[in-house]
Amino acid sequence: MLIDFRELLSGSGNEISYPANIDMTSLDDGVNKYPVIRKEPFVIQAYKTGKDKVQIQCEGSVTLSIPCDRCLEPVEINIDFNVDDVIEFNKTESDEEQEEKDYIDGYNLDVDRLIFGELLVSIPGKILCREDCKGLCPVCGTNLNVAECGCDRDVLDPRMSVFKDILNNFKEV
Ligand SMILES: [Zn+2]
Ligand SMILES: [Zn+2]
Repeated sequence: MLIDFRELLSGSGNEISYPANIDMTSLDDGVNKYPVIRKEPFVIQAYKTGKDKVQIQCEGSVTLSIPCDRCLEPVEINIDFNVDDVIEFNKTESDEEQEEKDYIDGYNLDVDRLIFGELLVSIPGKILCREDCKGLCPVCGTNLNVAECGCDRDVLDPRMSVFKDILNNFKEV
């Protein structure tokens, strides 16, 4: 959704609370696409802090479905966001030093883009369905949390082969 700040900038009041929500149904970072499982409406608190200058504050949370790094089963990851930012509209060309805010277009704030940026930097680097996830069998792809496929996955150190023989003999007894 877009929020138009012209009313706040031209009106007599210095503060408006905008009800906001996220339209996106998945977070697509260009490589991966994570479905949005839960999102809740939130409020963007906006304060006029100068001519064409608005401070925005909001917080909320979004739950994404992200595959486990090891077994690829979807994991629900809850990500909180907390924004406190100052937006300057009508910036002149010489303001190049200020970073470009891609969620601002004219006098509009693109809520999805703002939150997208927040979520993107907050996705944990490591996603595991559980600490001791056994992952997938590199031979046949079976999810080892669910079943044992019986593949020989040991890339054995030659020095270990003696022990392997002992083990095999042991099993045959
Ligand atoms: Zn897993
Ligand atoms: Zn296997």
